[in-house]
Amino acid sequence: MNSELESRIRQTGYRLYDLMEGEAGSIFSREYWVGKLFEWCMNSEPFKVQMLRFIDVFPYLRDTDAVIGHIQQYFSDPTLNFPSAVNWGIKYVAPSWMTSRIIAGSIGMNIAKVARQFIAGTSAKDSLPVLEKLRSSGLAFSIDLLGEAVVSEKEADGYAERYLQLFEFLDSAQSSWRPLGAVLGGLDWGHSPRVNVSIKPSAMYSQMNACAFEHSIEKSKERLRPILRRAVKAGAFVNFDMEHHGLKDLTFALHQSIMEEAEFGSYPHTGIVIQAYLRESEKDLERIIRWANQGGFHLTVRLVKGAYWDQEVIVAGQRNWPVPVFAVKSETDANFEHLARIILQNSNRLKLACASHNIRSISAVVEMAKEAGVAGEQIEFQVLYGMGQPVRNALHKAGLHVRVYCPVGEMLQGMAYLVRRLLENTANQSFLRQTFSQRLPKADLLRNPVDKLNKSLPGPPGAGLARHEGPPPESVGSEIAREAGHGVGPFTIEPVYDWSRSEHRRQFAAALNNVRERFPIQVPLQIGGYRIQTASGFASLNPNDSYETVGTVCSADIKEAELAIAAAKSAFPQWRDTPAQHRADCLFKAAASARLKRRELAALQVLEVGKTWSEADADVCEAIDYLEYYGREMLRRAAPRPMGQVPGETSFLLYEPRGVAVVIAPWNFPMAISTGMSSAAIVTGNTVVYKPASQSPVTGFMLNGIFEEAGLPRGVFNFVPGPGSSLGDVLTAHPDVALIAFTGSRDVGLHILAKAHENNERSAFVKNVVLEMGGKNAIIVDSDADLDEAVVYALHSAFGYQGQKCSACSRLIVVEDIYDRFVERLKAAAQSIGIGPVEFPQNFMGAVIEQAARDRILGYVEMGKNAGYPLFELSPVGRNGAHPHPAGNGWFVPLSIFTDVDPESRLAQEEIFGPVLAVIKVKDFDEALRVANGTQYALTGGVLSRSPANIRKARENFRTGNLYINRGCTGAIVGRHPFGGFKMSGLGSKAGGPDYLLHFMIARNIVENTVRKGYAPLEGAPPD
Ligand SMILES: Cc1cc2nc3c(=O)[nH]c(=O)nc-3n(C[C@H](O)[C@H](O)[C@H](O)COP(=O)(O)OP(=O)(O)OC[C@H]3O[C@@H](n4cnc5c(N)ncnc54)[C@H](O)[C@@H]3O)c2cc1C
Repeated sequence: MNSELESRIRQTGYRLYDLMEGEAGSIFSREYWVGKLFEWCMNSEPFKVQMLRFIDVFPYLRDTDAVIGHIQQYFSDPTLNFPSAVNWGIKYVAPSWMTSRIIAGSIGMNIAKVARQFIAGTSAKDSLPVLEKLRSSGLAFSIDLLGEAVVSEKEADGYAERYLQLFEFLDSAQSSWRPLGAVLGGLDWGHSPRVNVSIKPSAMYSQMNACAFEHSIEKSKERLRPILRRAVKAGAFVNFDMEHHGLKDLTFALHQSIMEEAEFGSYPHTGIVIQAYLRESEKDLERIIRWANQGGFHLTVRLVKGAYWDQEVIVAGQRNWPVPVFAVKSETDANFEHLARIILQNSNRLKLACASHNIRSISAVVEMAKEAGVAGEQIEFQVLYGMGQPVRNALHKAGLHVRVYCPVGEMLQGMAYLVRRLLENTANQSFLRQTFSQRLPKADLLRNPVDKLNKSLPGPPGAGLARHEGPPPESVGSEIAREAGHGVGPFTIEPVYDWSRSEHRRQFAAALNNVRERFPIQVPLQIGGYRIQTASGFASLNPNDSYETVGTVCSADIKEAELAIAAAKSAFPQWRDTPAQHRADCLFKAAASARLKRRELAALQVLEVGKTWSEADADVCEAIDYLEYYGREMLRRAAPRPMGQVPGETSFLLYEPRGVAVVIAPWNFPMAISTGMSSAAIVTGNTVVYKPASQSPVTGFMLNGIFEEAGLPRGVFNFVPGPGSSLGDVLTAHPDVALIAFTGSRDVGLHILAKAHENNERSAFVKNVVLEMGGKNAIIVDSDADLDEAVVYALHSAFGYQGQKCSACSRLIVVEDIYDRFVERLKAAAQSIGIGPVEFPQNFMGAVIEQAARDRILGYVEMGKNAGYPLFELSPVGRNGAHPHPAGNGWFVPLSIFTDVDPESRLAQEEIFGPVLAVIKVKDFDEALRVANGTQYALTGGVLSRSPANIRKARENFRTGNLYINRGCTGAIVGRHPFGGFKMSGLGSKAGGPDYLLHFMIARNIVENTVRKGYAPLEGAPPD
């Protein structure tokens, strides 16, 4: 930037500051409760956390007891040094006292004040005086209807309807509004519609999902079209707001797709948002400019910094994705100015809406526009309602066109928005905070962000923004992957696909075609390193289309089973004595090989076991994680451990493999669980006879190939597909088998346990059995649960992969206060999901694994009907998504939700392993816990609650192997959520955790007396 321009920017900045002098009404003013609240939040991080959480839950609290109860739980922790003003004197009062009611009332009023600070009104009508007051002061507005968190099509309809009503209302109101800027022609400032509305695209379709990209756009357009039509009729402006990064490309595509329709193409009054905090924002902007130039479109670009910074960082961290946002605030600020310049350079197509409260950013836009010779009508300045009134007034006084973004809605609907505003204003980096609260010197605040950046970063001056842009997302991800693949560095999870990236969608669709072209895949056995064909065989079928044969599979019989055990036995001594490092390296190589075939492996699962794209991809990632994790775990355990340290003695604890391991795997996580059990056995030095499930032998064969490519010696891994009924007993009862790892149903698991321990004269071992069995998992929904989230978590946990996960939620235990509201929303949400063949990504639920499973599940549904429980049912649809498709050639069952179920009934006690959910009503949280614990199983459980006291109770008393608080109860992640249950759910072996490998080894202790004639070396050496 040239120095002349830079000095003009500063001058403008100072002038705007001068215009703010004497302006009252900053949100940081301590005269007001909001200002005080901000001050407390800024002074104490623990208080800020509790306050944001309390504000988040507050609209859900129905009575005084609940308000007081929550305040006591949130704010009376003596270890947190809260501002005395916040004590509110409630620590010691009983909720029933009159004092409590007064305090609760006053807190309610104060929170309502905070909400009113940022929300213009509860409805369009209610906010009209605010809008008209703004207009009479010379300010334009944009209305945003809160309530975008739609979980069902019914709610999306309601949201769209509210927009239609809004246009109706504003259209008739606008006739009495004089255009701003005292110009003729009915438009503000001569060019801008008086009615301006902002829309959240995610609310246009409740199942919006980047994986089903085109489908999501088509469905969203169905709701958007009438809204846009009505807007055109009113001559109004419609802005497509930008939400989190996962929705970015969908939002741009939605806008472009609808504007390309002949009906809307020439309408110039629409806009999109560019978030300058995104590293890829410049590329997005360039794409939009190309699109506008090629199609002859005119639009407005609202340039913002971005409101989801914390969320983006958290999500990327959890998924091991590259962080999409800049890490340093001045990078965002510098990028904001850079993007503004690009927009100004393209003013033939784009108008600029500069949406910021930052005087430096605004001044830069003002001066760059002048320099570029862009007319005033091409630019407007936008601010948020309730934020930085002095800024907006100064801009107005400076003669700039100012628009105020006014959210409208009930407090409950506005909580997410409110929390974003509180976070933003109390952040250390907030310009408003630095100006009005910290009162930093103006010279600092007006400094060029590129200079700040150069100061804060090492390296030559002038490198600035470019230097800190970081590698493109793909290379960051693959760098992490490469490092992990070499078995060095700490364990990190394999990132699942980000479906918002078009290349992932495209490549996955291609992988489905490619893998299908190879059907039926021929699957031999592999024993002692040799491929073996057998006379007998069976077919693996696509559950969504049973006419499609995925693989033709050779079937092992008793003879082959014994051969495989013999091969494993003979390979054992050498493998046992192979250094742990080498064994671990084999796992790392296997991980690298799986990574290379990742798409093919996942696509195969879509077709062989009926997983959705995301579920299949997650399964393959989990398999890679096991390989990487157990490899590292083995290295951790490899060295003998010195025990006790007394002179004259060495004592070491060391681990050895057990011998031949039989791995009997399930079909529901055909890659992940097979890999997990097998790799744990292999890396610890055992040799393996692996029997895949009869429903997923082709995937099992892929695992065989991966281990082969990893260079395992012959006989270390033997692959014997075949019927469990005949093969299972031979393998598990065999005297040469030392260890069995099984995941599957309770009945089979218990049978294996009995068989394994049958007395056999030839047995040389008491076999160790690693057992993972079923669950009857419950999620408790507390009366203060966030329903927007609870509904989604419940649906995903219960019906993801058709409920065919041992961790799936099959009991929903709901506290009666919230029961009716919750159940109504749950049913509406269930009604909205797609059921059909899962190779089409718009289908959330597909067919169940096989005919027998279908019959069993339908039997339970019948049982529930006979018991008279109210039933909500959603039936599948056909391939083209249009026609009811009750059976067809896929093994479809309906999604079933039974309500008011007796917790002792078979429906609520027996594992069904299908999409059947029993909803149970309970009086309170204590009863919920009793019911949750009241089955034979203890695998996973969930609690959705915002009461710290109830969360504590759950931690102490909800006895499951995996307890998930405020999230769904499926989706354990290797290294983070050691997985496995107890009671009838298994032996508590905790796959993916630090103790898992111990089940596959025996511990030996070797002691040597090192004293010779009263002399001993000082330190003992470990055994070789
Ligand atoms: C009219 C209007 C409409 C808006 N619409 C949207 C919208 O559709 N979508 C949307 O996401 N936002 C939207 N915003 C919010 C906007 O993104 C900003 O969050 C907000 O305006 C604060 O930016 P600022 O320039 O006023 O303040 P500043 O204090 O200068 O900037 C704060 C911003 O800097 C960024 N930041 C903070 N810390 C860091 C860091 N460590 N590294 C990198 N960057 C950091 C964040 O984006 C943060 O919000 C809108 C704002 C306005 C005024």
